[in-house]
Amino acid sequence: MPEMKNIVKHNFSVGRKDRNIQNGHKSFLLWFTGLSGSGKSTIANAVERALQKRNVHTYTLDGDNVRQGLNKNLSFSPEDRTENIRRIAEVANLMVDAGLVVLAAFVSPYKADRNRISEIIGAENYVEIFVNTPLEECEKRDVKGLYAKARAGEILNFTGINAPYEAPENPDVEIDTTELTVEEAVTIILSKIQSKLAYTDE
Ligand code: ADP
Repeated sequence: MPEMKNIVKHNFSVGRKDRNIQNGHKSFLLWFTGLSGSGKSTIANAVERALQKRNVHTYTLDGDNVRQGLNKNLSFSPEDRTENIRRIAEVANLMVDAGLVVLAAFVSPYKADRNRISEIIGAENYVEIFVNTPLEECEKRDVKGLYAKARAGEILNFTGINAPYEAPENPDVEIDTTELTVEEAVTIILSKIQSKLAYTDE
């Protein structure tokens, strides 16, 4: 652990509540978890568009983008996957503090890592959306050609093929994209977060 004893947190006079009031809505994190190709990015994108239409301030964090920048020094080993998720959760925490509704689309296969996100950001600010599309369907779509590569042994640690996915037991929302359209998924998610968005002076 690096030396922390001389780091003292400063209390700034403008806080999250001020920013929530200014924006006219609360801020929190929508975390999409599920297999590669399950539909996380597609649904997150459509939810963000719907929120934008309602004048909600948003930002999307996506696996591929983050891995090209902030986390480009991390691999897909279990330790690095854990560090990947920790950093993303810390960034999301700053963005939620900045007043944004953050949408994060990451495979995030380990239950312990997802629990840690909830701890970092606070359970009341964490909405877990399990995009539960069957592996066979994800593999059939093979959007990025990665399942074929994993089956051919060209990718090690590929979730669903040669690395585990620990399904959420109690997600806030569960979506099977073989049963729901993107629009239906958006409607379900929006209705789930409607009351969380509203700013009421407690
Ligand atoms: P992930 O972000 O989970 O890796 P993507 O969103 O990149 O997945 O890819 C999901 C693919 O599945 C897209 O090509 C999308 O068009 C397709 N798809 C088909 N039906 C649906 C649906 N009902 N919901 C979401 N995606 C769907």
